[in-house]
Amino acid sequence: MKRTHQKRRSSWIDVTFSIAIIALTVSAIYLFSLSNKNEAATLSEKKQTATPTPVVIDTIDSHYPGIKIITETSNDVHSPFAIQYPQSLHRAFNDDISLYIKNAKQNYLTKMDENKKHGSKLKGELNISFKTLSHHSGNYSFVLVNSRATSNTIRTTEIRSFRLNPETGEGLSIADVFERNPKHLETLSSLVREALYNDPKLADSLLPEEVQLHTEPIWENFNNFAITDESITFYFDEYELTDGVAGPVIAAIPYSNVNSLLSDNFKLAVEDKDENPPNADSDNNGTEGNSTTPPSKETESTTDQGVDNNELTEELDSGIKQVALTFDDGPDPKVTMQILETLNKYDAKATFFMLGSRVEYYPEIAKSVQEAGHELGNHTWNHPDLTKAGMEKIRNEIDKTSSMIENVTGQQATAFRPPYGAVNETVRSQSNLPIILWDVDTLDWKHRDSNKLLTNVKSMTKNGSIILMHDIHQSTADGLDSVLTYLQSEGYTFVKVSELQ
Ligand code: ZN
Repeated sequence: MKRTHQKRRSSWIDVTFSIAIIALTVSAIYLFSLSNKNEAATLSEKKQTATPTPVVIDTIDSHYPGIKIITETSNDVHSPFAIQYPQSLHRAFNDDISLYIKNAKQNYLTKMDENKKHGSKLKGELNISFKTLSHHSGNYSFVLVNSRATSNTIRTTEIRSFRLNPETGEGLSIADVFERNPKHLETLSSLVREALYNDPKLADSLLPEEVQLHTEPIWENFNNFAITDESITFYFDEYELTDGVAGPVIAAIPYSNVNSLLSDNFKLAVEDKDENPPNADSDNNGTEGNSTTPPSKETESTTDQGVDNNELTEELDSGIKQVALTFDDGPDPKVTMQILETLNKYDAKATFFMLGSRVEYYPEIAKSVQEAGHELGNHTWNHPDLTKAGMEKIRNEIDKTSSMIENVTGQQATAFRPPYGAVNETVRSQSNLPIILWDVDTLDWKHRDSNKLLTNVKSMTKNGSIILMHDIHQSTADGLDSVLTYLQSEGYTFVKVSELQ
């Protein structure tokens, strides 16, 4: 009796509990789905109200095994940026670089937002590019140059180096290189000071107390460095050693001066040293005075006014319709190659305005463009807004790129297109190549939609037009076929910019 009673009561409790649990679960699911809906709703509202700032992120392989190049670009009217940085197969290294990039970008965008709030309409600029230097120990040094302008007068340049052994994933500190030996550190300190005081460019700007402080024999003072088989180079910030006018300070110590102080992995066998040809690094300083000859006068006079199409159109009323296709910001191993194929299909010749930094990374692709018979144009080394740069920087951006193009392809760049189409008198005075802009912008960088590549081409192209596209977006390569079909059906022939009559 007792037992059945208990049994009955417990099954009653079971039922009540089950109902309660089911009810609770159902209402919890309901509430959860509600809150999710709300979140989704606010998210999509946010998406709709925020002004779209297209940031284009590309990942490509570098020709260093295991190293990829990430490119982030934004053509935002107020705060554009162009950022390039390396990533590897190793988490710690990747995190280090990503954090640096994230902060650099955030600082810039915050500053630009503040300016905007204070009513400034000035366009800023953030450019981060890098070069890769290798050392016989298997270590790579990645040297990032971060150049930023948040107003017409405030421009800063910073150099940051990161080192990696791509096989082990280990970083490399200056102490590792110098056996962690305090005596070697003392010698290093005095060698760097000597290099600084012997640099004629720094003669008037070094601040002795600052130099003393930042080159004291402390390992941390020397951790912004790059190592090649020729030298160990140290980087200091703009205002660290000088009043900042000269920009970041670079002190290179020749390998022969430190070889005996280095850990075994880093020592070079002395008899090898003289036989080693200087590596690619020395190109950076050595190419300025080379044999780049100015373009023929003919090219210059016909294309200098490349955007003045009224005259051109009149001249060309003879019946031939011409259009110049131009591709900027490459070369790119995938997109450029696909574009070459499509152009070949239509027997079309085009002009490629290349970035020197990318020609350096993809020499074979640049060479393929040249071999396919297209025209090579100069689009600067790393895409700065030249109207914000000094004369020397402009020259350097143009000359270095022309040299790279010629060295890699054996052919000279015949035209120059300033990034963003930004030109002023200084830029004009520094370019010995005809400056070529455009009159039809496909806006391919913005919509990144192969179906939209034709829209502006249809509505704006006329005889003598110069059409702007970018050979770094897959959508451009995919949409090109229909652009060529259309233009061909309209009776246009495709010519290089220097052939436009
Ligand atoms: Zn460009």
